[in-house]
Order: sequence, then structure tokens, then C-alpha cells
Amino acid sequence: MKATAFPKYAKYITHGPKGHIDIDSFFISVEMRDRPELTKVPCATYDSRRGTPITSANYLAKSLGIDSAMRVEDARKICPDLWLVEERPEEYKKVSDKFFTIIKRRAGDRVELYSADEAFVDLSKHSYEKAADWTRELIKELEDELRVPISGSVAPTKWLNKMMTNYVKPHGFDVLKSEADVKLFYPLKVEKFHGIKEKTGKKLRKFDIETIGDIANAPLTTLTAACRKTFGKMLYYRMRGDKYSSYLPWDYMVIPWYVEIPATTIGNTIKIEFQYPEHIKGRIRVLCSKVSKRMEEGRYDGRTLTLGMRFEEDGNLKWVEKSKSLPAPRYFHEKEMLELLALKDLFDKIYIPKKRVGRVGLRVSNLVRGWSQLRLL
Ligand SMILES: [Mg+2]
Repeated sequence: MKATAFPKYAKYITHGPKGHIDIDSFFISVEMRDRPELTKVPCATYDSRRGTPITSANYLAKSLGIDSAMRVEDARKICPDLWLVEERPEEYKKVSDKFFTIIKRRAGDRVELYSADEAFVDLSKHSYEKAADWTRELIKELEDELRVPISGSVAPTKWLNKMMTNYVKPHGFDVLKSEADVKLFYPLKVEKFHGIKEKTGKKLRKFDIETIGDIANAPLTTLTAACRKTFGKMLYYRMRGDKYSSYLPWDYMVIPWYVEIPATTIGNTIKIEFQYPEHIKGRIRVLCSKVSKRMEEGRYDGRTLTLGMRFEEDGNLKWVEKSKSLPAPRYFHEKEMLELLALKDLFDKIYIPKKRVGRVGLRVSNLVRGWSQLRLL
């Protein structure tokens, strides 16, 4: 992925300090602000109406092993005293709006809105010292105004920003002045690498890669063998910093808030074993759950869903697909929504009885990032 592939966005690449600001445990922090009794107990937000998993947990709950995205039943098993608090999306939206108003007031165009409670600021015109002072002051103003705890960092790339902010949380702030400082994270387990989830962690362990330091020392061939090829390359380049910056343009870009985030897609394909419609539909349900999970993890929402099938006949392969678009990006991070569209709207338009299906694929395009978390679009 070279920067030249994104000429439109290449102008947002900067080499120099970037600030990162992130509200700690966003939803539950707003609840603790409004209900002080919650600060003394392990607590978490969820949406009982939709039966969602936990959406945010306080640090007391986290210290007991509770994690956001954990199922409520599982969380209750680990921590029977956990206080569950009903989500108040309208309130979080208010806090989020105010958060960005304050940041924009100080930083103008130089802000990238990353999610409902997170932003990056291009501070490349400043020294690292000045950038650190500037970010600290901003955090202080935000905390005074919003009365929720905020963490942040200053670093040369957005990825290092994310790593550093997570490292100092809760309510922390620190500075990384050079990409070589990535060594700070070497002793951490691979799952602490921003972007690596449990599944990839397992794959890397099969190659004796346990820590971030092990990733840094692994040859490119090992990393691409352990993970998807592009992902393996990304791991390799990230550990080598600026020298490979053209392969990781996003790490260096601070895309102003008024610029639309480039359209990307999230999708998967899956093999079909048996040739009856219920089996194929079952496989599509599996895809819906995989795609919705990736959407949720990346805090994406989308507008267009495409279902594809590969028909196989006398050695001929033919890929057929149909799409369905909604008027606005909405609820595509929800498995039920994907299933509804894929199985009720699209399946019958593609599926031909008695024709052999070898593979099905599902992808969401016209993505937007950030606001899905609030489900208020
Ligand atoms: Mg946050």
C-alpha cells in the first residue's frame, strides 16, 4: 500500500509530532460522572433492549477481568457483583459533540475525528516539547468541560499514538519522540500491538512469536506466513518505522475532519461444502457474523452490502453478485441487519437451484467510521 496509491490524501501525510486524545472507557465514564455511586463499584454499560454485549466497563471492572464486547452472561460469571447500566446514547452524543467542538476550536482544520471519543491532531509544525504542552493543555480543558477522564499522547505516527495512549491509560499522558522508541513496547504480549486480536495472536504464537519484540525480530517471510500477507507486511513495516513510511501512509496522515474518509470495503468469502440451500444460507450467516465483527471492531458502518456466489459448472467458474444499498450508512455492524439483507433481499436474486455453488462472499462498502458506536446516524 504505497502512498502514491492515495494521491488525493497524500497531502495529509506529515512527518512530525501528532497528538492523540481519547476518553477513557467513554460510555461508563459518562455514567460515573452523573452517578457518583458508580465510581466505587465494578460497572459496565450495555443495551438491554438490543441484548448487546458489554459496551464499556470501568477500570475496577476491567481489573476483575471484564472487557468490553464480553457477553453479559459471561461477565456476570466472572464478576457477580457487576453493576449493569443501561446505555444513554443521546447523552454520549452530546459529550462527543462537545469533545469535538473544543478540539476544533483549538486546532482548526488539523483534527482527524477517529471515533466518537477519539481524535488525532497534526502538530508537525511544533517541536515535540511544544506539541506535548499543547496536547496537555487541550486535555485539561476537555476534562474541565466534560468531567470525564481523558488520556493522550504525542508521537510521530498515529499507530504509535494509539500504542502510547493505551500504555498510559487510564488518565495518563506521555510522549514518544522517535519511531525507534517502539522498543518500549517490546516486552508486551502481541495482543497489545494495536491491530492484533486474539485470533492473530494465536497464529503468531505458532511461530514462537509471543511479544512485540518477537515481531520486531521476525523476518518478513515468517510474518506473512503467520498472518494474511498484507497484514504480515504491515507488522514488519511498522516495526521498522519511517524507512517504510510510504507503505503505511495512514499512519502518517492526519485527515481533517471535513474530508470524507476514503471508501473502503470489509468482506470475507467462505467455501461451500454441501449443495443444499439451507447449508449455503448457514454459511452466509457465518459470513454475516464475521463481517459484522470486523465492522464493529473497526467502528465502521456502511451503506452497501454485496452478496456473491461462485457457480461451478463443467470446470467453468462464474462469480455472480448483487448489491443492496441503504440511503445512509446504518446498522451494518449488526449481524441481524446483514442477515436480513443478505438472506431476504439478495439470496434469491442470485441462487439458482441445481447449480453447483463453490464459494460465497459478502462485503460491505461505502464505509464511514466512528459514529456507528453511537447508533444515532
Ligand atoms: Mg476511548
